[in-house]
Amino acid sequence: MSNFVWCHGPSCHKSHTQDRIRGVKGSKVLRTKKVQQTTYNSGQHFNMYSYFCSQGCYNDFANKHVREVIAIAPRTEALETPIDVVKEHARDWSGNDYMETKIIAVDNV
Ligand SMILES: [Zn+2]
Repeated sequence: MSNFVWCHGPSCHKSHTQDRIRGVKGSKVLRTKKVQQTTYNSGQHFNMYSYFCSQGCYNDFANKHVREVIAIAPRTEALETPIDVVKEHARDWSGNDYMETKIIAVDNV
């Protein structure tokens, strides 16, 4: 079983970095980077870095395929979180009084 996947960034193989250079003189190429599967990006820690070598490659992929990604779970209405807004007296580091606004999530479930 291989312990890597190829980066899914659509332009990964076009970035001019030395670690992408492969081949011999006269037939060199820039190659898509390997993404090593480690304890930080596999198993319980599966995340975007399981498929992308960098934030830039992830952004390139997301921007290219944003319509397909949104089609997975389209949002047709706003979501809301029930809250209470509480005003409280507080004191800053200099000892001056001020009113602090606290937003407290209300668990209605
Ligand atoms: Zn990449």
